Amino acid sequence: MSKPKTTKVRVIDLAEMLDKSNPEMLDILKELGIEVKTVRSSITQDEALRVEEFLKDKESAKEEEAAKTVAAMPVTKIAPGSSVADIAKEIGETPGNAVKILMGAGIMMPATTAADEKVLDLLSKGFGKHFVFGTPDAKPKPAASDAAPQAKAEQPKQEEKKKTAKLESKKAKSKNAEAGEGKLIPRPPIITVMGHVDHGKTTLLDTIRNTRVTEKEFGGITQHIGASRVEYDGHTLVFLDTPGHEAFTSMRARGAQVTDIAILVVAADDGLMPQSIEAMNHAKAAGVPIVVAINKMDKPDAKPDRVRQQLSDHGLVPEEWGGDTIMVEVAAKPGTNVDQLLEMVILVAEMLELTADPSAKPEGTVIEANLDKGKGPVATVIVQNGTLRKGSIIHTETAWGKIRAMIDDTGKFVDSAGPSMPVEILGLENVPQPGDLFATVASEREARDLMSDNEAARRELDQTKAKRLTLEELYEKMQTEEVPQLRIVLKTDVQGSLEAFHASLMKMSVDAVQINIVHEGVGRISESDVMLASASNAIIIGFNVRPDNNAKKTADNEGVQIRLYQVIYDMLDDVKAAMEGMLAPELRENTLGMAEIREIFRVPKIGNIAGCRVTEGLIRRSAKVRLIREGVVFWNGELSSLKHFKDDVREVKAPNECGLSFEKFQDFRIGDMIEAYEILKEKKTLD
Ligand code: GDP
Repeated sequence: MSKPKTTKVRVIDLAEMLDKSNPEMLDILKELGIEVKTVRSSITQDEALRVEEFLKDKESAKEEEAAKTVAAMPVTKIAPGSSVADIAKEIGETPGNAVKILMGAGIMMPATTAADEKVLDLLSKGFGKHFVFGTPDAKPKPAASDAAPQAKAEQPKQEEKKKTAKLESKKAKSKNAEAGEGKLIPRPPIITVMGHVDHGKTTLLDTIRNTRVTEKEFGGITQHIGASRVEYDGHTLVFLDTPGHEAFTSMRARGAQVTDIAILVVAADDGLMPQSIEAMNHAKAAGVPIVVAINKMDKPDAKPDRVRQQLSDHGLVPEEWGGDTIMVEVAAKPGTNVDQLLEMVILVAEMLELTADPSAKPEGTVIEANLDKGKGPVATVIVQNGTLRKGSIIHTETAWGKIRAMIDDTGKFVDSAGPSMPVEILGLENVPQPGDLFATVASEREARDLMSDNEAARRELDQTKAKRLTLEELYEKMQTEEVPQLRIVLKTDVQGSLEAFHASLMKMSVDAVQINIVHEGVGRISESDVMLASASNAIIIGFNVRPDNNAKKTADNEGVQIRLYQVIYDMLDDVKAAMEGMLAPELRENTLGMAEIREIFRVPKIGNIAGCRVTEGLIRRSAKVRLIREGVVFWNGELSSLKHFKDDVREVKAPNECGLSFEKFQDFRIGDMIEAYEILKEKKTLD
């Protein structure tokens, strides 16, 4: 490619070496006043070096500019010792995006690594935020995310679970204590009812709401605000009103995790159905514990053991069979055994030891929002930490307002709402998005400033933000995991092909890269599939099926990749390539050549230059070098210059002479040998 001995360089070669397009290179030359006719024309080495210098300066100017922009932004304090993933989550970004930014700067590190100043700086620029190390302002994580690690334990044996939960909550407590915050008190669990259509979700919710003593307790009539409280046996439970998993998943895809416990309703006469499995997978992906309600037990054709068997086949083994999953037989319509179900939910909630700090700065999640003709923008929020008060100024990423009034689920106006409490809020300036996190600020002005900052940052991000999760890019994400996992949502036209695809995919799973089918089903690719893929960082593979329009739109918005196949082998080839891409490249050393030091020139100001003869192969300016003295490696480092006579050159071949100087090293002698080598990155393959 390069011709070391000529003192001239073709523009076309220089462009390639410096990673520029030909027109770009011509523009640069023009800017520097170096005249050339075409890209095939040559310029001198000196001119080439000027180009290189120019590009370097430009690069650092760009960095300075970026640093200035960042410095002008409001500061986000990052606790020292935070990992890359922590920092990403702090601003509602995915760890994968953070890793991508670092990779763009040539830094490859797992997202679990603690960030240093340099990494923080890169993330600041990449995300368009101004991160500094320091004790974060009292802005505790939403209580639900504190609960997540416990929930992830996926219902171990009751006793063990209690222990784990205690441990975890101790951890959470000490974490909060360190931050110097107020005290944690138990908070009610937030529950979502999920399951296949017609299996009785709505009926169960109605029955639960009707048996509740809330009316007397809270003194009002039921008001639909998106969530409702139920008082049972001295415990408060909060149920999200909308049954099903769509809301649940879209929230999670937006970074919110409201649900603490999922009740999976399965009709005993119908058995496990596609949406039951989907619901189950959504809850599993979110790390939310599942309590199963085997419903419609009053029906003569109820077969609860068949349901137990089907669930066991999908990894939910009932306690009575030695597993970890609590299953309760109920009949929602007549209300049989619903109290026992609630008792079990309370038991799970107790084991989770859900806590929050009512004196903390309020924050939580928007669960519903709309524009009401009379009331203006209306949103229902669930407070996850702190206490929200009338008059508070709240904001999400895109919306804000001063709370004019708060209405609880019994239709009563309230002045304050503590942890886990759902309230409808009036007084917002605009409509937030369900799933958005909210926090409070001290003044309207601060809120307005924040909105315009967010808007600017969003615009900037939109321009730079790469699409998430194409099959080819997926491996980047995997750098953040210990054993890389290729997560797949699989949809096929018929059951037979589903089984065939499933089996072939699982056969490909190896120790180095695991395949994890987070969801599978027969039928078109739906919006719900896309949301699940987005929430669990999966790609969607479809065989003889198509996404519907909503799914397509959502996939575009969420950056989820959908791959469609007609031939199983094409799919397997692609998956294999993706898996190989996820393996960390193997590094291999390649020896380039040897040179012997024959003379030492002392050059004022510059230092010592080793006059060498290349004895084998070649020496390249960009190479790594070892200095070998009497057969022993004496020094290891890089070149700071390579000259052939007076010219700076890119490489010198044997048996020519060259002048070498070394990066921060002068202590060489006549007779020392220089070994030049390079590190090659080689893709590992699965074979
Ligand atoms: P969803 O689509 O899951 O919300 O299901 P619904 O709650 O709308 O229930 C579907 C149908 O099943 C309705 O006709 C209910 O009356 C009926 N249903 C729900 N629970 C029971 C039950 O425990 N026993 C009987 N026999 N029917 C039930």
